[in-house]
Amino acid sequence: MTVMINRSCIGCGACVQTCPEGALSLGPEGNAVVDPSKCTDCGKCVSVCPVAAMSLPPNAVQLEQPSEQVLEISEPVVVVETEQSGDKVWVFVEQTQTVIAPVTLELIGEATRLAKKLNTQVGVVLLGDQVEFLAQPLFEQGADKVYLIDHGVFNQYRTEAYFQAVCYLVRKYFPEILLMGATTMGRDLAGAVATDLGTGLTADCTQLDIDLDKKILLASRPAFGGNIMATILCERHRPQMASVRPKVMKALDPMVGRNGMLIREFIDIPESSIPKQILRVVHDQLDQINLAEAKIIVSGGRGIKDAAGFQLLQDLADVVGGVVGGSRGAVESGCIEAKRQVGQTGQTVGPTIYFAVGISGAIQHIVGMMHSETIVAINTNPDCEMMKMANYSMVGDAYAVIPKLIDAFRAALASRQTNDSGAVCSIVQEAF
Ligand SMILES: Cc1cc2nc3c(=O)[nH]c(=O)nc-3n(C[C@H](O)[C@H](O)[C@H](O)COP(=O)(O)OP(=O)(O)OC[C@H]3O[C@@H](n4cnc5c(N)ncnc54)[C@H](O)[C@@H]3O)c2cc1C
Repeated sequence: MTVMINRSCIGCGACVQTCPEGALSLGPEGNAVVDPSKCTDCGKCVSVCPVAAMSLPPNAVQLEQPSEQVLEISEPVVVVETEQSGDKVWVFVEQTQTVIAPVTLELIGEATRLAKKLNTQVGVVLLGDQVEFLAQPLFEQGADKVYLIDHGVFNQYRTEAYFQAVCYLVRKYFPEILLMGATTMGRDLAGAVATDLGTGLTADCTQLDIDLDKKILLASRPAFGGNIMATILCERHRPQMASVRPKVMKALDPMVGRNGMLIREFIDIPESSIPKQILRVVHDQLDQINLAEAKIIVSGGRGIKDAAGFQLLQDLADVVGGVVGGSRGAVESGCIEAKRQVGQTGQTVGPTIYFAVGISGAIQHIVGMMHSETIVAINTNPDCEMMKMANYSMVGDAYAVIPKLIDAFRAALASRQTNDSGAVCSIVQEAF
């Protein structure tokens, strides 16, 4: 009698890694095959198979399973459930000094949609130092389970500690899908995790979906300079990993009081094993100008030819409480710093109002601002792409139009006497 393998096997290799007898391997067609002379019907492979392709013969006697040793694990503080977890869509929680990055909430919203299609639940990985209190807001945002490793070694993000912890949890609970923000931290971590797990990673996705027949992730992203959308599949390895930029997905409205399951875990990563020490954190000036979170952005392009023109944009931004961004054209002409660039190779933004001033609307720019609620384009060319996609298009020379807008908004805002960003957005929208 040996374990039986049916045709749903995807060749992910989870059973091969798990088999204590070395009885399983991947055959020439990429699917799992069993060596009957070694298989003891212990059932370990059955419990880790993500697609229920393995089963025991009807009269097999299940042996006590040997305890699994992954990395240098000390005993778990609390393990609330068995290793066969019912939450197959996972999100890594990016937090800095206990503040959760908005992209995490956006990804939990998206994970909820994907999990519904797979008839499964959403798990999140929370690493940090004294961060257990963050579990409740994560449940309220849609997480069903929070896998928490709370330890001083996770006080500041360091690749070595974080990737070991994420890989430990993945090897123990076998999620099907793992999502991370395409942020500085997420990009660094996702690559390290995917490499260690030997799985695929689709970076900078703009759309995620599920192939309902194959039950696999469809990860789409712009390719070839943004000229086509490529949908990338990871059919043979698990988890299927994808990173998504901030402001691409939508967070759910918080469900106050919603509860979930907290799973406290532990991994022993001695401080001495990490070659990096963080001595001091220095915030650069741009930290105070957060384009990704701005409600109003006034962006200039190559049509704004000089510093005087960008000063006009800054004046408009000051009046409406916005921040100044720009196209790559503006960066290349030396008018703004590269850190303020919006687009495929810059930041992805999703403000309530996006002013595109002297920007033609190249696809590489559009992919970075297409999720803006209201787009106002100001351009001398009425036929350019940006004017076509804008909610409001103003044909004219920016140097003449912007001073008039500044006066008009200043007057409108003064009469309403408010500087609340939501109210300012409504007033600006009403003005058009
Ligand atoms: C791989 C790759 C990645 C890229 N990534 C990005 C990216 O992240 N972000 C990005 O922006 N671009 C990116 N680009 C570049 C992109 O293709 C365009 O070249 C760039 O967006 C053009 O910038 P622009 O619209 O400011 O300039 P232009 O295309 O030169 O447009 C200038 C506009 O200003 C208008 N104009 C001129 N004078 C005035 C005036 N006085 N008042 C009002 N309007 C005026 C013109 O009618 C024109 O529409 C990328 C390109 C590649 C190949």
